[in-house]
Amino acid sequence: MSVAIMGAGLSGLACAITLEKQGIKPTIFEKRSRVGDRFINGEVTFSLLNRPIKDEIKFLKDKFDISLMPTAMMQNLVMHTKNEVGSLNGDMGYMNVRGRHENSYENQLREQVKSEIVFNSRFEYEQLCKEFEYVVLATGDGGYSTKLGNYRCDFTVAIKGSTVTGNFIKNKAEVWFNYDIIPKGYAWLIPFSEKEANLVIAYPEYPKNIKLDINEMWEKFYNLACNDLNQNLIITDSFEISKYMIGICDKVVLDNTYFVGNCFGAISPGVGFGQITSILSGIYSAYDICKIGKYEELSKPLFNNYSRSLTLRRFFESLNDENLDVFARSLDAKFLDGLIDKVISNKSNIDFLEILTPTMKIWNKLKS
Ligand SMILES: Cc1cc2nc3c(=O)[nH]c(=O)nc-3n(C[C@H](O)[C@H](O)[C@H](O)COP(=O)(O)OP(=O)(O)OC[C@H]3O[C@@H](n4cnc5c(N)ncnc54)[C@H](O)[C@@H]3O)c2cc1C
Repeated sequence: MSVAIMGAGLSGLACAITLEKQGIKPTIFEKRSRVGDRFINGEVTFSLLNRPIKDEIKFLKDKFDISLMPTAMMQNLVMHTKNEVGSLNGDMGYMNVRGRHENSYENQLREQVKSEIVFNSRFEYEQLCKEFEYVVLATGDGGYSTKLGNYRCDFTVAIKGSTVTGNFIKNKAEVWFNYDIIPKGYAWLIPFSEKEANLVIAYPEYPKNIKLDINEMWEKFYNLACNDLNQNLIITDSFEISKYMIGICDKVVLDNTYFVGNCFGAISPGVGFGQITSILSGIYSAYDICKIGKYEELSKPLFNNYSRSLTLRRFFESLNDENLDVFARSLDAKFLDGLIDKVISNKSNIDFLEILTPTMKIWNKLKS
């Protein structure tokens, strides 16, 4: 059986590892000169958003024999709004590093792959489609899916970020929801060591936001972050992305072509997380190719998660800075604090997003 995987990122490599476990050696085509050859950034996974999975790292190891070593367990998430600060505490997810870093998730997955990787690949999908029995599209964006008429783009995002040096606690992340500075968007700080972190702003490119100057916004936010963290963060590297597509495919398989990772629609519109869905979609596509399971069936919970997360995004967008202040304050409110921390913990079974979606839908309808 001949399988081409286009893209040696999270979803492509997870697909390759799973195929190999079933005795199939795919050929992986990667356009860059090595795995993870892009800017280094810190990312997180948040267990609450992956229910019914509780602990995603344990789940990947126990169920699929895929090993990932995060940089830390995320145990403290501080939320800054315009006038308030609130925090979540407990074992709520993991922090990890991506890109060129030797310990990045893609480099860790690459270590588990034995198949050939064709680097600096200039092969087009159409060519691979003719030459291989199966093609797995894992290029990390909705480009090909759109070209094949198989993708609904809900919105695009502008992102600007930097690696900063300073003093950080490895298991503590920070997030800012301040619509005055970042309209309908957010910002975050994710450390990947005690000395280095990733500071990023991201906002939807709605018509209202097009005239915004991302550099001006960054400058304002950078000053705010230095002030809130009470340190002078030193920028050592920067990146900027525009038109980052948030959307989902219509069909997970079209003829001999499988859509995985961001080509599938892995990024949750609510908070922009896509790592676990990318890895799972890669695994599920391999199951389908090996006839162990049907990708269409296996991916149903991933579609549900996307749709709930889109409702969450619309909910966030319907709030204003005052509402966000109330939200942040409530995180540490006397009776709610312990309860919220319990719900977000990776020991909890509660699918918060599923439970809240109907209420958020009504709220969103009333607001619109
Ligand atoms: C700034 C930023 C921060 C993020 N933060 C988080 C976070 O905190 N938590 C989270 O869960 N998710 C986060 N995400 C989303 C997450 O990174 C993605 O959902 C995930 O990496 C997608 O995996 P993938 O396999 O689809 O693509 P990738 O892992 O990006 O891999 C795609 C690969 O395909 C290669 N490629 C592209 N085109 C071609 C081609 N034509 N031929 C061959 N190879 C090709 C690329 O070079 C790359 O190696 C973030 C994304 C960004 C941009």
